[in-house]
Amino acid sequence: MTKDRGEAFVVEGKMALPYQYFAGATGSRFIVALRDEKKILGVRCERCAATFVPPRQTCERCFSTLTDDWVEVEPTGEITGFTVVRYAEPYQPKQPPYVLALVKLDGADVSIAHLLECGDVGGAKVGMRVRAVFSDEAVNNILQIAHFEPIDG
Ligand SMILES: [Zn+2]
Repeated sequence: MTKDRGEAFVVEGKMALPYQYFAGATGSRFIVALRDEKKILGVRCERCAATFVPPRQTCERCFSTLTDDWVEVEPTGEITGFTVVRYAEPYQPKQPPYVLALVKLDGADVSIAHLLECGDVGGAKVGMRVRAVFSDEAVNNILQIAHFEPIDG
């Protein structure tokens, strides 16, 4: 004998919420260097030698605590993956269509997700060489790098 619990259903919904959070000591140092010096800093794991950008407090490869081995990486790198965003949602950084790319900066061992401006959104390619274009305004988040652009040639 089973109890009748009624029909199960799922409510579909969407939320878009403005928010703020403390970037922490590691995230704050990263953002301040971007904003004030136009330098991209990472943290190197002393145990496995991987360099992480953005910096973080724990190595995702060997689980060591990352502390004070800060390194500056190059503002140039390579596209390791990308997608073309074609839908509009509130609080997106820009109007679609645009390219959201994974960029492995020279000197880093992981890729960072960021905007790629390459003219036509169909022009993005894995392996494309790119450089960071910094914002001149104090944005105080990852958009202190306004976007990446292809390096000609
Ligand atoms: Zn490690």
